[in-house]
Formats: sequence, structure tokens, C-alpha cells
Amino acid sequence: MCTENRKIVLVGTGLVGMSFAYALLNQHACDELVLIDINKQRAEGEAMDLNHGLAFSNTNMKIYAGTYEDCADADIVAICAGVAQKPGESRLDLLQRNTAVFKSIVEPVAASGFSGVFLIATNPVDIMSYITFKLSGFSKGHIVGTGTTLDTARLRYLIGDYFHVDPRNVHAYVMGEHGDSEFVPWSQAFVATKPVMELCQENHGENYEAGMIRISEEVKTAAYRIIEAKKATYYGIGMAMMRVSRAILGNENSVLTVSALLDGEYDCPNVYAGVPSIVSRQGVSRIITLSLSPEEQKQFRDSCAKLESVVSSLKI
Ligand code: NAD
Repeated sequence: MCTENRKIVLVGTGLVGMSFAYALLNQHACDELVLIDINKQRAEGEAMDLNHGLAFSNTNMKIYAGTYEDCADADIVAICAGVAQKPGESRLDLLQRNTAVFKSIVEPVAASGFSGVFLIATNPVDIMSYITFKLSGFSKGHIVGTGTTLDTARLRYLIGDYFHVDPRNVHAYVMGEHGDSEFVPWSQAFVATKPVMELCQENHGENYEAGMIRISEEVKTAAYRIIEAKKATYYGIGMAMMRVSRAILGNENSVLTVSALLDGEYDCPNVYAGVPSIVSRQGVSRIITLSLSPEEQKQFRDSCAKLESVVSSLKI
């Protein structure tokens, strides 16, 4: 019998936070879920609402509105607090407004004695992960940003749809900033063990390469299009957070394109960026360095340089 109590504290019970919470409940991904929000009443209402669904679930998860003291024995503190992206607003523009929010959260979490993994979703997520790293004093692997996990899921879905293959048999990644400079290293995209580039060459008569360019663009602009249509994105990122949490709590060593702190990989500056990483109980335990083409290396370095220029202007 498993007696371990898997505990997650969620800070920010807005659309993203509660989509994550709902995914956790439906997939019984943890045993104890604590909700915190600057709007205490909102956190209490959300806890009540989720608890009323327990009778229809296959779990006896403990769900309640709490305080930062509840972080002491948590495995994960997930931060989704902040202000949502406005139509047309770049993710980097959100930075100023969200830095102050993080100061008010990370400091009391660290003061509680918390020693688990921070999971960050607030945008701009790569920068917010770096800010959490600096504010918390935790080791780099213990800060995990959602990075390009959602973008990668969108990519795998679109490639699968294009070649009529189950996305679970598509191995491809979106790398770099979760934002405008992210890119797809097509040299590292596979359907089963077949390179996508080779699949394109075999399919004479149809312009498959143009299709791949269209897919990259579609992935990159997906968030903007969803925001235009329904003001915010939340279900996909909630599911992505649940997947990363499962990898952490289950010590899975799964490869996910989370935002991790680069430390010499790809000759890039010291920034958090979306890279295929091994995710375990320790957070990011290792970054997998892909054999990128020279052009892809440049795209990755450019994306990281963009993040670094923001990071270097930060007053934390
Ligand atoms: P939301 O406005 O619905 O929720 C934000 C919540 O944060 C609110 O409940 C608010 O009360 C709370 N909050 C604000 N300041 C706080 C503080 N100091 N302490 C505690 N709680 C505080 O927004 P949302 O749609 O849930 O989006 C949340 C964040 O997630 C945004 O930054 C958004 O850009 C980001 N996001 C990230 C991804 C991704 O792929 N990483 C995808 C979608 C959205």
C-alpha cells in the first residue's frame, strides 16, 4: 500500500490555477491540494466547489484553502498567480506587473521551510522561473517552469494530424523562450524513429516542407489566436502542469520541454528556457542536449539572448 501523501500547494486560483486543480482532481494526481490566492474568498469558494465534486471522483483528495505555512511539507508549490495576457500584449510586457506579485509569494513560501519543487506557469514563464530562482535561493533544478511543454504538445498534435499518426508516436520539440522567439528544431523531429525531414522528402508532389513551416507558425501563434477568441488560455496549460507534476511526484525521469536553467548547454547564457529535460522528484535532474543543426543552434542562442537581455535589466 502506498502511504505517501503527495501534497501540492497552488498559488493563484484563477483560470490557469483552477484548470490545473481540476486536472489534478480528475486524474487523482495528488492526495492533498492547498489553494492560496490574494483573494482569500475566491480560494475558499474554489475549494468548496472542487470538494463538492469529490463524490463523483475516484479519489478522496484533501482540498482546502490555506496559507503559506501549509507549504512547509509540500512536494510542489505551483505558482499561477499574476495578471493574464491582454490581447496583443507580448509576454515580456507582463514582466513588470508580475515581478512584484512573485516577491509577495516566493519569500513567504521559502520562509515556511518548503524544500520541494517550485512549478511556475505565470508569464513570461522563463523570466518568472529565473526570478523565482533568485528570490528563493533554491538550487536551479528545484525551479521548473512550464516552458514549452504546452507548445510541444500543440506541435505533436499538429504533426500527428498532418501525417495521420497518433501524436504519442510523434517525437518533436518546441525549444527556447515560451513566446515569440520559440522555434521547432525540425532536424530533431521524428515519427516513430523516422525523421520528419525524410518523410517530407519521400512525399513527392506535395509541398510538405511548406506544411512544416505552417505548423511551426500555427504553434507559435496558438496562444494569441485563443486569447483573441476567448480572452485567455487555460485548459491546455492546466493539463501541461498536471503532466509535469506527475513526473515530479512519480519520480518518472520523463523527458519534458520544461523551462530549465542553462549552465553551459548549447553555449547559451545563464537563463531559464524551454529545453528537453529529465524531470524527476528533484525537479529538473538533467538537460538533454540535442544535436541541433548550426542554423537551429543559432535560433536557440538568439532566443536565449533575448531572454538574457531581459534578465540582465531586472532589479530583483
Ligand atoms: P487570472 O487572472 O484568472 O488568475 C490570476 C490569479 O492570481 C487571480 O486569482 C489573482 O487573484 C491571483 N493573484 C494575483 N496576485 C496575487 C498575489 N500577490 N498572491 C496570490 N495570488 C495572486 O489569470 P490566469 O488566466 O489564471 O493566468 C495566470 C498566469 O498564467 C498569467 O501570467 C498567464 O499569462 C499565465 N499563463 C501561462 C501559460 C503558460 O503556457 N505558461 C498559459 C496560459 C496562461
